[in-house]
Amino acid sequence: MDKFTVLKEYFGHKDFRNGQAEMIDNILNGCDVLGIMPTGAGKSLCYQVPAIMMSGITIVISPLISLMKDQVSSLVSAGVSAACINSSLTSDEYSETMHRICCGEYKLVYIAPERLGTQEMDRLVSSVDISMITIDEAHCVSQWGQDFRPSYLHISEFISSLPHRPVISVFTATATDTVRDDMIRLLGLNEPFTMITGFDRPNLRFSVIKPQNKYAELKKLLGGFGDKCGIIYCLSRKNVEEICEKLNDDGFSATRYHAGLGDAERRANQDDFIYDRKQIMVATNAFGMGIDKSDVSFVIHYNMPKNIESYYQEAGRAGRDGSPAECILLYGPKDVRTNNFMIEKSREENSDLSAEEKETMLERDRMRLRDMTFYATTAGCLREFMLRYFGEKAPSYCGNCSNCINGFEEADITVDAQKIVSCVYRIKQKGRYFGKNMVIDVLRGSSNERLLSLGFDKLSTYGIMSDVSVYTLRAELDFLITNGYLDFTGDEFPVVELTPLSAKILKERINIKMKLPKKPQKSRKNKEQEFPADEKLFEKLRGLRSRLASEANVPAYIVFSDAALRDMCRLRPVDREGFLNVSGVGTHKADKYGEEFCRLISEYIEEEKE
Ligand code: ADP
Ligand code: ZN
Repeated sequence: MDKFTVLKEYFGHKDFRNGQAEMIDNILNGCDVLGIMPTGAGKSLCYQVPAIMMSGITIVISPLISLMKDQVSSLVSAGVSAACINSSLTSDEYSETMHRICCGEYKLVYIAPERLGTQEMDRLVSSVDISMITIDEAHCVSQWGQDFRPSYLHISEFISSLPHRPVISVFTATATDTVRDDMIRLLGLNEPFTMITGFDRPNLRFSVIKPQNKYAELKKLLGGFGDKCGIIYCLSRKNVEEICEKLNDDGFSATRYHAGLGDAERRANQDDFIYDRKQIMVATNAFGMGIDKSDVSFVIHYNMPKNIESYYQEAGRAGRDGSPAECILLYGPKDVRTNNFMIEKSREENSDLSAEEKETMLERDRMRLRDMTFYATTAGCLREFMLRYFGEKAPSYCGNCSNCINGFEEADITVDAQKIVSCVYRIKQKGRYFGKNMVIDVLRGSSNERLLSLGFDKLSTYGIMSDVSVYTLRAELDFLITNGYLDFTGDEFPVVELTPLSAKILKERINIKMKLPKKPQKSRKNKEQEFPADEKLFEKLRGLRSRLASEANVPAYIVFSDAALRDMCRLRPVDREGFLNVSGVGTHKADKYGEEFCRLISEYIEEEKE
């Protein structure tokens, strides 16, 4: 099978995304690879496709149990044999899995880093053929990364202990240059082929809101999201408790997650969210790493996080399946103080660092917080700000962030300025000056009585700006006054007057520019992102998916992503062949689910005819 066949057969996709094919080809050629790709870019496929194609097994080292479980269920539901080894297995399950691995039953085996170097592991690796070692969340190996894990430091030792060195593929979503160098060095990569794809996630809409009352704003936002699911991040456990309780009192379906809860409750709450029994997860940043739920429609930050890295990672948990999603930051100046306090407090904690190292770390944290605050308060494009922060070039207008949508832009108002000033001039020729409203009324061609009785409708400037909104016209007039091109004086009834500078506009025709609210522009959309053409059918498909998922005891998105359901709405397949054309449908899923989905769609089409 070639890589395209594997892609279609098992994963149901027609094309590779940016970077995937190159990564796969290099792995198959035996070259180590390093992929720095944002969340949702499709890193998993980069190693899963070659893992299926290679003769031996692939060992995937992954830091979190929930992440492994999710990946394994996804693979199994796509018809790929996979398993995981971690501390959540009972000893019977453990021996059983080990036995099957030795019999070569699995193509992919996920392992927690702590397991490497145990005796069983040593025995195991000497008896099976390992084609590849994959290291997920590889930035954990670096002390400069966000989530340093000492156990990652033993990986290279483990690799050198293998009888043959397999090809090594390494992935992460975030890596500065320092972290990248650390990964290459500490994981012992051999001149890796490196793929860095852009950080941009066009389907995410970024917004910053500065509400008077955060909770009221939150409720308003949630009201607008209907039954979609999402995450609310808070800075403190106390905040999580409070908001979760209030939301439940207010009739929302919310659960909570933070490090202060017992293991059992955390797991139960997380499952409630993943299996769609609860719609909203209120959590501290302890929640999320390893959460692969692909249909999260919104991530709201109730407080500003401590740096842009964390923000982008947490917000990026929205819209992983490529559907449009919202990332909203509720900003209050108090958040800066809270973060500062937490940064100072962390000084006491890191006990294994020298005083000097601590001071450097602290200074870095303060700088990161400053950048985060700039993000929350900038008037420019939020996407541009973020991408530049990560060292990428980006246009200054994305059309899909709150600043681009509501923001201001520099507009050339030379012609408007000429019209306004000449209107004031014409009015003056009639004998005297008038207030702002009269100027605006004349320019817009109003037919108010006073204007008509003065004969201003006969002025040559009457109605020449009827296509400009009152709001804009007033803003332009005010701009000319503030900048001295016109004057506005008089005690009781101030009037608009000409100034010496007015001539510059009329005679010299100088260029005038000012910041004006942007004209409403359609936000960027792609075919996949559009709302399902047929919401009724979409709901029915969702219903079927949810039944099948609960029968199989897996989260709904493991059966099909929202993007796949949307594609079904668009294509309306009624037979296996048509069903295979749906994005996200491979042979295994077509066999398993095709009949039921096609039946539902045919019935729907019949109903529609009637
Ligand atoms: P990452 O690990 O980079 O965060 P994932 O591997 O979880 O991303 O993939 C994110 C989503 O993108 C998944 O829902 C996956 O099915 C989808 N995806 C990945 N590759 C493709 C592709 N080539 N075509 C369509 N969808 C894809
Ligand atoms: Zn923007």
